[in-house]
Amino acid sequence: MDLELVAVPDLPEIRPGDSLPTLVGDRIDLRPDDVVCVASTVVSKAEGRLADLDDFPAGPRARELAANLEAATGEEKDPRFAQAVLEESTDVLIESPFLLTETRFGHVTVNAGIDRSNVPDADLLLLPERPSESAERIRSGVDADRVVVTDTCGRPFRHGQRGVAVGWAGLPASRDWRGECDREGRELSVTVESVVDELAAAANLVAGEGAGGTPVVVVRGFDFGDHEGSDEQFRDVERDFVRRALRGWSYARD
Ligand code: GDP
Ligand code: MN
Ligand code: MN
Repeated sequence: MDLELVAVPDLPEIRPGDSLPTLVGDRIDLRPDDVVCVASTVVSKAEGRLADLDDFPAGPRARELAANLEAATGEEKDPRFAQAVLEESTDVLIESPFLLTETRFGHVTVNAGIDRSNVPDADLLLLPERPSESAERIRSGVDADRVVVTDTCGRPFRHGQRGVAVGWAGLPASRDWRGECDREGRELSVTVESVVDELAAAANLVAGEGAGGTPVVVVRGFDFGDHEGSDEQFRDVERDFVRRALRGWSYARD
């Protein structure tokens, strides 16, 4: 399989209400089997997910979190920012020395994915509310059948960040190799490959992180192949043993 990755050129600064499908369609001829990978930053901007710290008056829990973070890091922490993170989250996995939370749509990330870079005219940029629905809306407006919404995200156990998929449409999140055989004829029993994360990482590699201005990357030539697909991406608490370990819960087979 030959893959090609093409950054959509000359996209402007994205503003609330902008049509990403139109802006993309005006700049590149898409093919039906392209995967259009869009940085969540611009999806959020188009959806008006900009906010100011003053929109989040800090409650007692946010003040407590900010004070603990300040004590742990020696850096000034704004309790309004902690409040914004809490309001975007359903669960706080780590409180110090940074906030690792589960967003309302199930993605676990630092600070609920709230960005402070590449955000003009506002203090904060929140992740899209439901990124897979955003992906579906973009998909219905472009001449390509597959869309992935990405974010740059840190990783446990390893240094460095990379792109992950926060939303997707037109393809399953994963392809399931279970039941297929390796080269020795041994049946695979665990491998479920998160193709949307792999596509997001490849796109993020081309999009870059700074002032490059290339938030949309088209992956051309990706063949999902003849596999079962799955949309399971975010582990639920019961089957998330790392999260259970963080809480000191033991592993109990049910
Ligand atoms: P994130 O990974 O979704 O948080 O997005 P980043 O802030 O890392 O930005 C990814 C890419 O999009 C970088 O090349 C940025 O320069 C670019 N970018 C961010 N916002 C805009 C925008 O409004 N317009 C354009 N043209 N590029 C942007
Ligand atoms: Mn981001
Ligand atoms: Mn990024």
